[in-house]
Amino acid sequence: MKDRVAPTIESIAVIGAGTMGHGIAQVAASAGYRVILRDVDRDSLARGVQAIERNLAKGIQLGKLTDEDRDYTLQRIRGTTRLEETVHSDLIVEAAPEQLDLKQEILRQLEAVAERPFIFASNTSSLSITEIARASQHPQAVVGMHFFNPVHLMRLVEIVVGNQTSDETVETVRAVGRRLKKEPIVVKDVPGFASSRLGVALGLEAMRMFEQGVASVPDIDKAMELGYNHPMGPLKLTDVVGLDVRLNIAEYLHHQLGSETFRPPEVLRRLVSEGKLGKKTGEGFYNWHDGKEDARQAHSS
Ligand code: NAD
Repeated sequence: MKDRVAPTIESIAVIGAGTMGHGIAQVAASAGYRVILRDVDRDSLARGVQAIERNLAKGIQLGKLTDEDRDYTLQRIRGTTRLEETVHSDLIVEAAPEQLDLKQEILRQLEAVAERPFIFASNTSSLSITEIARASQHPQAVVGMHFFNPVHLMRLVEIVVGNQTSDETVETVRAVGRRLKKEPIVVKDVPGFASSRLGVALGLEAMRMFEQGVASVPDIDKAMELGYNHPMGPLKLTDVVGLDVRLNIAEYLHHQLGSETFRPPEVLRRLVSEGKLGKKTGEGFYNWHDGKEDARQAHSS
């Protein structure tokens, strides 16, 4: 296999059916790709597929989608727990938990069973694509495709270019991004890329302000929502992203950039150790019921 980059992408495998993976599978299927959604955990896979069905039902309810659109998307997605079923895909988008060794192991396993060339695109929020690609025999075909939550609504995708990523790989995934109706930006492989570095800095500062009693959780959020026109305040956004995900990214950026800006605040460590991970567990900086936050915050400083 001389050139591992598939010239056109027809089928996409998504690794991990969690918060991000199910959303990526949904937009890929809606755009007409054949999609395999793979998770190691049967329950997580079932939850991922249910979340796609819910998103589509909501789209119909809001008049943005038809029953045909829903059927078109659902019939293009196949869920599996078996790695072997991903081997016929042209593009593999990895959305497993944010751990370098896990992502490298997934890449090694895929290359060991692959039957055809594929591009490996990691949805990592903060890990180095160059580092992930060290596990690969074909680092020119390893790239970042950083989607945002919720994937079916957020328009940005960051294409992250590792030291060895080929121009052809970048162009191929950029074209896929556009077909998914996203706006791709191309970013150098630096810690935090363009978006996480700014977004995480704001979120951590909001937590420190809450710890210091500067204002309540909803009032800190309103400062950004009403004063700066952010659609969602930094603490609510942290709940939606997942406190564990944010903690991992903060620890990584703190280590990589050596800046106190990214030192994880105590409140974040405490809530994560108590299993209060935000919207997905029903409690974080807010209490969550039926997908909506309680106007009253979960914690007082
Ligand atoms: P998540 O915990 O919601 O989902 C991860 C899923 O991966 C789980 O269902 C888990 O069972 C599965 N998994 C674990 N090991 C696996 C393996 N070896 N093979 C297949 N599946 C496996 O995580 P998430 O929030 O969707 O994040 C996934 C990635 O996306 C992370 O790298 C994260 O940094 C990044 N990301 C997250 C967000 C966000 O808002 N949550 C935004 C952008 C990027």
